[in-house]
Order: sequence, then structure tokens, then C-alpha cells
Amino acid sequence: SATVGILALQGAYEAHAKTLAALDVTTRLIRTPDQLFTLEGTPSVDGLIIPGGESTTMLKFLERNGFLESLSSLVRTLPTFGTCAGAILLANDVQNPPQISLSALDITIERNAYGRQIDSSILTAPTKLPGAPLEMVFIRAPRITRTGPEVETLATRDEFPVLVRQGHLLAATFHPELGHDLRVHQLFLDLIASHRVHSHATVDS
Ligand code: GLN
Repeated sequence: SATVGILALQGAYEAHAKTLAALDVTTRLIRTPDQLFTLEGTPSVDGLIIPGGESTTMLKFLERNGFLESLSSLVRTLPTFGTCAGAILLANDVQNPPQISLSALDITIERNAYGRQIDSSILTAPTKLPGAPLEMVFIRAPRITRTGPEVETLATRDEFPVLVRQGHLLAATFHPELGHDLRVHQLFLDLIASHRVHSHATVDS
């Protein structure tokens, strides 16, 4: 089965590890760029989670030792799930204020977009996932204000996308690892599985 790496520089990485443990998935905390690759130079994990937290703080760590460059090239092909600050890092256009990113996911995202009064909230909304509406925990959440043509919106809040997918990339502006619902992580595991089948098929043909 799959091994999922979790970027563990700062933020809510432990909660992701617990959620994946509940799904019987092996995880590996990633703290240095060399942990991303095997000695042969292939990715050391089948998928990667970039957690919520503070994107500016994560960027400070990523700007050392070529971490940002290694991660940028990895997320071109490795299934990656960014939550909140992780979604900000994946976006190719960050606003309020503009900041650098991995530029992998074709969205524009505005940081801290919900203002002070309602900066953190829990709400339940329908999604394209099977089953009941999903509980979403928002903490100083960003807002996705543009999605490119390749981006599929799986859930919205007040018309703005909060869960999006683009090929091997998944991003949420809320924190699925802080709720009890495993469906968003399961969706990411399905994405990893289909990506593996797909890459093997490509190699075989
Ligand atoms: N406000 C944070 C940022 O801009 C994101 C908040 C979160 O990850 N919960 O990076």
C-alpha cells in the first residue's frame, strides 16, 4: 500500500498523520529536502500532504537548502494534497500580499480572506463526495478567487471553491484533518492509487 509523506516544518502535520493512521496508511514526516527522494533519486513517497499552518513561516524553512526547488519539481508529478497554508503554497498566484509559491495548481488564492470577525468557523456544506454533507473547519482561511480550466471544484462556500482538484493535485482551504470525516483523505488516497495505476500503465505500454 501507499506511503504518504507529510511536510512537517510547521503547522497541523500531526493531525494529518493521525487521520492517515486511522485509514491504515503509512506516513513519513518530511523535514529536509533529501527526505523527499531515495538514493536513486526517485520520490521516497507515493503522495505528499502540505498541511495548514502559516505559509510565510513554512516558506522561511523552504527557502533553505534548495528545499523549495526540490519540492517544486516533485509536485509537478507527485500526488499532493495541500490544506489551507498548503493550498496557498501550491497555488500559482497568491494575493494579500503576493508571495512566492510552488506554482503547481492553477488557482488564484487570497490569504486571510474572511476578515477578523469570522476568521475561524465550522460549517457543514454539500460536496461532490459521496455521502452526507461535509463538516469543514476554517482557520484564518484563504479564499480561492480564480480556478483555471483544468481545475475541478468539489465543494464551495458562498460560491467560492473550498475543495479543488487538478489532475494529481488536491487542495482544500479548510482543515479536513481536524474533523472526524475521513472522506477527503480517502479521496486523496484514491487519487494516489489511480495515479500509480496510471504511471505503471504508461511504463508498460
Ligand atoms: N493564514 C494562513 C496563511 O496565510 C493559513 C491558515 C491555515 O493554514 N489555517 O498561511
